[in-house]
Amino acid sequence: MEFEPVIGLEVHSQLKTNTKIFCKCSTSFGAPPNTHTCPVCLGMPGVLPVLNKKVVQYAICLALATNCKISAKNRFARKNYFYPDLPKGYQISQYELPIAEFGHIDIEVDDREKRVGITRIHMEEDAGKLNHDPLRSRSLVDFNRTGVPLLEIVSEPDIRSPEEAGAYLRKLRSIVRYLNICDGNMEEGSFRCDANISIRPAGQKEFGTRAELKNLNSFRHVEHAIKYEINRQKMILEEGGEVAQETRLWDPEQGKSNSMRSKEEAHDYRYFSDPDLIPLEIDSTWIHEIKNTLPELPDEKRQRFINQYKLSPTDADLLTSSRELAEYFELCLKELNLPKQVANWIMGPLLGMLNAQGKDIEQSPVSAKDLAGLVKLIEDGVISGKIAKTVFEEMAQTGKPPEKIVADKGLVQVTDVSAIDEVISKILSNSPKEVEAYKNGKTKLMGFFVGQVMKETKGKANPKIVNQVLKEKLGG
Ligand code: ADP
Ligand code: MG
Ligand code: ZN
Repeated sequence: MEFEPVIGLEVHSQLKTNTKIFCKCSTSFGAPPNTHTCPVCLGMPGVLPVLNKKVVQYAICLALATNCKISAKNRFARKNYFYPDLPKGYQISQYELPIAEFGHIDIEVDDREKRVGITRIHMEEDAGKLNHDPLRSRSLVDFNRTGVPLLEIVSEPDIRSPEEAGAYLRKLRSIVRYLNICDGNMEEGSFRCDANISIRPAGQKEFGTRAELKNLNSFRHVEHAIKYEINRQKMILEEGGEVAQETRLWDPEQGKSNSMRSKEEAHDYRYFSDPDLIPLEIDSTWIHEIKNTLPELPDEKRQRFINQYKLSPTDADLLTSSRELAEYFELCLKELNLPKQVANWIMGPLLGMLNAQGKDIEQSPVSAKDLAGLVKLIEDGVISGKIAKTVFEEMAQTGKPPEKIVADKGLVQVTDVSAIDEVISKILSNSPKEVEAYKNGKTKLMGFFVGQVMKETKGKANPKIVNQVLKEKLGG
């Protein structure tokens, strides 16, 4: 039987505010345990939360960028549950009246455009962190993260494959990073995803029972875990069994998921409006002000790169994958307006080198100006493409400008015909057998002669001239 997967994603995106959502404690990562705490985020009795305006501003940014309808009136709710890292016994979240609803994000998979609906975006506080210490059979709790602001972005169950899930997440991550409201770091947990997955017989309208997968902290894990889950459910249904509605934990080492708990229902949380926080009314002029400050977003930038620079959609995708990379590309073009050549050098050697060095584009040892300078040296015929690779390696290691490396090492390309002629004459007179064979029709030997010339000139001879002179001399 054919089955169709149905997938909906819940993403928690940690906001880049300086202070927590309801108190003045710092949100910075990596401080000694329990040093960023106060009576409010420790949940002491009698304290009152005060909403951080920046959180609302960032939520509005994301709502606008994902085509959501912003609710002029919304409110916070208490989600009640007990856990050692949740000192109040409830999490302040939004339930019936979230800040934004009815949005969408467009993704592209296998050259097909697809729209994924956003059900809702709401603001909430993060919980603390448990540090398990099995050797001494104890667990310690760190409340630094308690009260750090999150946006939860819930998608419609519109996603139909692991690849679409990956594309949706990449797009959403790129949007929050363009907006500069979240650093998108999946390993550090500032961009986390839970995946809800069910399958149904092809053609059936009703959804099947879903399982929720947690602990997916990289794109690779998300796609891998979803694939695994689809197969697990297929096997159950094919054997006539039933999929249990449950929460499962992905184990990346084992490459499988394990049941964590049966799924709780919303009513189990006994949600109710938080009486400590008044309903939030959002002024439409504020929304307009924020709208005017939004940067160019990934979709618009990609389209502009295609139109303005005549890049292929795939190249435009890659170059707009982060705002910083797109900025680097456009900085290069300010120096040298050759989009295709510059794009190729960025997408090939530059990203390859950064990847190998484990660096981001912001940490590139090769500046945009110098990369453009290198491409210009090739275009002007000063160095060959081959020499350029060597120059680039030196730039990557030393950060020196290409012009200096070329001058210091005497790498300027030889375009002097008489100098090349001289080298060729010498080589031909040293290889009488090959010349004879060439003249008898073994024209493949051209490569051999070119190779010899390049060896003799240490790769500096202009290949075009070399070919020309060789053909003349050999009568080709
Ligand atoms: P909960 O808090 O119970 O997880 P949410 O409304 O926060 O509920 O999230 C539900 C998520 O599950 C949404 O992303 C939604 O698209 C998805 N979803 C709902 N029903 C199904 C289903 N049958 N199969 C797959 N995904 C589903
Ligand atoms: Mg959920
Ligand atoms: Zn605090």
